[in-house]
Amino acid sequence: MPHPRAWLEDVRPCPYADQLASGFRLLRFNQPLEREYRAHAQDSTYSVKRIALYGAILIWLAFAAFDFALVHSPVIWWMFAVRLSVFSLLLIFAGLLIQGRHAHLLQPLSVVSIMALGVGAAVVVGIAHITDPTYPYEGLLLVCMAAYFLIGLRFREALGCSLAVLVAYVGGELFAGVPLSRLISNLLFLLIGNAMGAIGCYLLEYKSREHFLISRLMRLLADHDSLTGLHNRRSFNRQFEQLWRQAQREGHSLALLLSDIDHFKAYNDRYGHQAGDKVLERIGGLLKDAARRPLDMAVRLGGEEFAVLLYDIDQAEALQRAEVLRKNLELLAIEHQGSATAPIVTISIGVSCFPPTDSGTLAKHYEQADRALYKAKAAGRNQVMS
Ligand code: GH3
Ligand code: MG
Ligand code: MG
Repeated sequence: MPHPRAWLEDVRPCPYADQLASGFRLLRFNQPLEREYRAHAQDSTYSVKRIALYGAILIWLAFAAFDFALVHSPVIWWMFAVRLSVFSLLLIFAGLLIQGRHAHLLQPLSVVSIMALGVGAAVVVGIAHITDPTYPYEGLLLVCMAAYFLIGLRFREALGCSLAVLVAYVGGELFAGVPLSRLISNLLFLLIGNAMGAIGCYLLEYKSREHFLISRLMRLLADHDSLTGLHNRRSFNRQFEQLWRQAQREGHSLALLLSDIDHFKAYNDRYGHQAGDKVLERIGGLLKDAARRPLDMAVRLGGEEFAVLLYDIDQAEALQRAEVLRKNLELLAIEHQGSATAPIVTISIGVSCFPPTDSGTLAKHYEQADRALYKAKAAGRNQVMS
């Protein structure tokens, strides 16, 4: 039976497929993928963290009222002081986040909040047990479960917070002088609950990471041509609109270079389809080089037709870049005895440049470049026209 992930070999090398193939049992990706995942996880848990923080403040207040109902001794004021300190801290964090201006602090604040809640609750339990050994300690497990499942912490952070809560609990109970046998049985209960929470949290993060890699990989495959690795027509259509709007906002020109290999049918007929594919791959490499800047885009539109979209460029420079591309293909000197233009593979390129003031659509610019390409073909091929 083939390995369930054998298909990954077909799409490598690619960072998402490579990471899926090499595994991530320690819940860590190679950089820069780890950074990308964390940014994604932060975005996707943003609202849940904010709601959890506001919810925690309310629940904390409710528990303060519960203390007054349960404990009737002067230690209540110490418990109240601890509750008030944690409450003030949470209120400051909520204030920082209420306008959404400190969104980058949400992750560290979530860790500090859950730690403060857990350690604060452990200290309250310790103080209560000085006079009332029946005061419930099980609530600590709820704080740990919130760390594991509710507020979108990563496994390591949740585990770290929960262990800190347990250490604080043991410290509080020893301070209160709780009998050792009772402490051990309580601790066992908390430890088993934590082990279950930790396993669940690990599996959740593992699945979340796997889902992230697979969804990014699927998006990449859906937007790229499998033979050349260039963007495909779907991705081009979508990104062209975005780039065009961005260029208009920023006052930059865009240029579209449409290219078509000359006499490619004859190449296939003479050298075979597989050799034709190799040529397409090599030309794909040249197009990638022609679109090196961050907002440029190299596209395989279909068959032996390609496009390069260049950002922030004027007509003269666009024509020059197209000429460099045409010449670079000549320099590869791929033999083509079936061509009526030259004994090597050549390409014709139509260039259309549009300033930010132009209100035309993708279809209009495409037609313009296509007309220029047609002119280049009609004028004898292996040339650039605008
Ligand atoms: P022209 O100079 O006018 O462009 O002539 P041409 O032969 O290049 O143009 P035509 O449109 O008649 O032929 C395009 C050829 O491209 C036909 C097809 O066999 C070939 N082709 C399209 N897609 C692929 C592909 O994925 N691999 C290979 N090897 N060939 C392809
Ligand atoms: Mg063609
Ligand atoms: Mg052609």
